[in-house]
Amino acid sequence: MAVPSMGGTDAEVEVQDLLAAAWGSDGLDVTSWDLDIAALSAEPDFPGMEVHRSGARGVVARLPGSGDGPTLLLLGHTDVVPPGDLAAWSGDPFQPRRSGSRIIGRGTCDMKAGTAAMWYAVRALQRSGTRLRGDVVLAAVSGEEDGGLGTYALLRRGVTADACVIPEPTDLDLVPANGGALTFRLRVRGRATHASRRNEGVSAIEKFSAVQERLRQLERDRNAEVDPVMERWDMPYPLSVGTVHAGDWASTVPDLLVAEGRLGVALDEPADHARADFEEALALLSLEDPWFADHPVEVEWWGGQFAPGRTPSDDPAVALLSRVHGDLSGQRPACYGAPYGSDLRLLAGAGIPTVQFGPGDSRAAHAPDEWVDVDDIVSCARTLAAYAVEFCGVSD
Ligand SMILES: [Zn+2]
Repeated sequence: MAVPSMGGTDAEVEVQDLLAAAWGSDGLDVTSWDLDIAALSAEPDFPGMEVHRSGARGVVARLPGSGDGPTLLLLGHTDVVPPGDLAAWSGDPFQPRRSGSRIIGRGTCDMKAGTAAMWYAVRALQRSGTRLRGDVVLAAVSGEEDGGLGTYALLRRGVTADACVIPEPTDLDLVPANGGALTFRLRVRGRATHASRRNEGVSAIEKFSAVQERLRQLERDRNAEVDPVMERWDMPYPLSVGTVHAGDWASTVPDLLVAEGRLGVALDEPADHARADFEEALALLSLEDPWFADHPVEVEWWGGQFAPGRTPSDDPAVALLSRVHGDLSGQRPACYGAPYGSDLRLLAGAGIPTVQFGPGDSRAAHAPDEWVDVDDIVSCARTLAAYAVEFCGVSD
């Protein structure tokens, strides 16, 4: 069954209900609830939202242990990003298909494969009849891609654990740290006039080139010295402009350009510090060009505000997962931080040691012909089942 659960569509709720029903019929103890989006989004530490949602559902399923061991949370997001240019796909993005050992389709890699792996890990525990001491909790969340609504709501509801694994696509490496990402909107002002007299106007598009140059410099400065756990990336904290809109008529000099993008936040850097750094860099433009002194670039922070987050690489929960996967696969997984924000920072911020470990290459995520290898899903499920046994302990 295929559910095109793009963020902000009704299918986002449909896929949550589908999992709640499936986990319930597996005999797990399921709780499902409606999120009060208005109340949650009014809270001061709400992580942001970039699409309109009329509703969202939380889903948690518990495999109860005997009550005297630690709780393991396995958490997956079920929202996916839009498919982008359909012409770049070799088929319908929302009709998943097999090609050799691959499954191709939007959301396969990010992260329905991982969600399936954690589910099947629990199924393996159920079928083996292993009685654990601690609980294993499966959580399915919405709204991860545009801020973290679902995990925020889960934590606000009081769901907690002694460790959490998020099977996001890490190619079965361990990712205990995430850089942050802050979504911004810029307004660059110009002065409109008829294009035939363009010298008498000021083009917002031309002013934007100076803005871009300044942002490139800022990006270089912010990536000059990085935490060792991020060293494998040439650009751990990218600053990228994703949309640009300017002008409303071909023969008018445009008086407004609106650009949106994301600012990378360094590990351990407070989000407020990153925002101030960005705003100060743009304020410097007024020293180069008097236009900007009179018409400063306006900065708005909106949508996803992902602070960075980390669990220390030597945390016992991370070390145990590394050993379990190494024993089963014959190779110790690499361990490093990722340049993107995820729900990890909300969980780690709530004091739950959290690591990402899942099937799929993150380069395939959000791309056309997104894919995941079935063997990696199986390998992940096997490791998660064995990890749950070791982490939660076996009851006698
Ligand atoms: Zn994801």
